[in-house]
Amino acid sequence: QARLLFPLMALMRVALDLQTSGALFARIFEYLDLRPAITDAPDARPVPPAVTTDASGRPLLGRVEFDHVSFRYPDADDDGRPTLDDVSFTIEPGQYAAFVGPSGAGKTTVSYLVPRLYEATGGAVRFAGVDVRDLEHESLVSNIGVVSQETYLFHASIAENLRYAKPDATDAELEAAARAANIHETIASFPEAYDTVVGERGYRLSGGEKQRIAIARVLLKDPAVLVLDEATSALDTISERVVQAALDDASRGRTTIAIAHRLSTVVSADVIFVVVAGRIAERGTHAELLAQGGVYASLYRQQAEQPEVPTV
Ligand code: ADP
Ligand code: MG
Repeated sequence: QARLLFPLMALMRVALDLQTSGALFARIFEYLDLRPAITDAPDARPVPPAVTTDASGRPLLGRVEFDHVSFRYPDADDDGRPTLDDVSFTIEPGQYAAFVGPSGAGKTTVSYLVPRLYEATGGAVRFAGVDVRDLEHESLVSNIGVVSQETYLFHASIAENLRYAKPDATDAELEAAARAANIHETIASFPEAYDTVVGERGYRLSGGEKQRIAIARVLLKDPAVLVLDEATSALDTISERVVQAALDDASRGRTTIAIAHRLSTVVSADVIFVVVAGRIAERGTHAELLAQGGVYASLYRQQAEQPEVPTV
């Protein structure tokens, strides 16, 4: 069942990546014969601008907050257990937060609740200090960029694929983003450079090339919050290194929610959340969690001994 749902989630991610209009978003759902649960409240407002601060003068844009969030998928296997159970955390603007834990623990689900692809059944998700239910959905989505395991490219030129993120981007902007994502030289070597048609039936790109195009797209979008969901997990070791370097650059200066399958990439995170069975079992820096000698410490030891076998 979860398998069947994956294409839908991929499409939703595409909708996210596209910074698309509400109309297109609705059409995607229509096409799938699914009613979008996401409708704006009558008094919904856009995400507050970057200059907005809280009562203590700290910036709000880029803050992501879960306040006693519980969630259960509408069509969850009916054992009654919530997918997320009383999850609370605050990620401050510019912080790099890593989520680790066993497969099926709920890490990806956390990332779905931020752009309100699903609604919390209990508690509140706040973005830039505002409950996501009080935000215009399009504005919320335009502030979040996602790079996940599977990148979807349209059957269109590379330039067009990049411009989905920013329709009025100049050629110079496309090239700057591609350079920052470490993919410009590769694109330049293609038969028709930026006009090369990719996607289904198009010029075949490697997994690492696709991921770097996805990163260039996110850089053009320039969102306050970046979600990386096991973005390098499908790559071989060499492309993984190149893509990881591009991701590290992309995350600099913006809030990053990184769901990691390899603990080596989370060592320098500002905060690590260990998710087990829908709850945050442990939280802290790498050093703090190692000292704690709990779940994280044993996962880390396991992975250090067997670096080729991801344990999370
Ligand atoms: P993780 O990313 O940590 O591997 P997920 O957040 O993907 O975990 O999944 C958490 C739980 O929710 C799992 O039991 C999974 O089967 C279930 N789940 C994930 N996506 C859906 C969905 N779209 N519908 C129903 N159940 C889902
Ligand atoms: Mg996941």
